[in-house]
Amino acid sequence: MTTPPFDPVSERDVQIVTAQLGRPARDVIGIPARCVCGAPTVVATKPRLGDGTPFPTLYYLCHPGATAAISTLEATGVMAEYTELLATDDDLRRRYHGAHEAYLADREGIEHVPEIAHVTAGGMPERVKCLHALAGHALAAGPGVNPLGDLAVARSGWSPDVCRCPDYLGEQAAAADDADAPAASSAPSEAG
Ligand SMILES: [Zn+2]
Repeated sequence: MTTPPFDPVSERDVQIVTAQLGRPARDVIGIPARCVCGAPTVVATKPRLGDGTPFPTLYYLCHPGATAAISTLEATGVMAEYTELLATDDDLRRRYHGAHEAYLADREGIEHVPEIAHVTAGGMPERVKCLHALAGHALAAGPGVNPLGDLAVARSGWSPDVCRCPDYLGEQAAAADDADAPAASSAPSEAG
C-alpha cells in the first residue's frame, strides 16, 4: 500500500482552510486539490482523528465557491437523477463501485481503521447521498476515477481553473493599506 501523493499541508494552508470552514481545521494531512491560485479546494483528513474518532471522509471539499455550487446542484434534484442513472446504467454502476474501491485504497494506504474499513463517503458504492463528498473525491483523484463526482463538478459550473477566491487571510487588504500609507520618513500623517 502506498500513501496517495498529497501536496503537503503548510501552515498557510491550515489558515486558509480554517477561514474557508469558519472553524479550526484539525487533523489535516494533505491538500489533494487546489484552486489555480493555490488555495486548497479539498483537504485530506486523518482516518482517525486526534481524539480517536474514526473519520471516513478522507476527501473533504473545503472551497466555499465549490461547496456553494454543489449545494445548488443538490437543491435541484440532481441526486435523484444520479440515483436513477446508477439503477439503469451498468457501466456507470461498475465505475462507481471502482470509485469506492479507489477511495478505500487511498485511505488504507494512510491508516487502517477497523471501524470504517468498508465505509467511504457520499453514499458510495450503492447510493448517492452527498455530492460534496463525491465532488471532493473527483477533484482529489483527478478525472475518470469517480464518475458521479466528475459529473457533479462539471455540471456545477465551478472550476478550479478559474479563481474566484475571496481574500481569505486579508492579505490583499493589508497590501492595499500599505500602498496607501504615506512613507514613514517623509510626511507625518495629518489625519486625526
Ligand atoms: Zn483561487
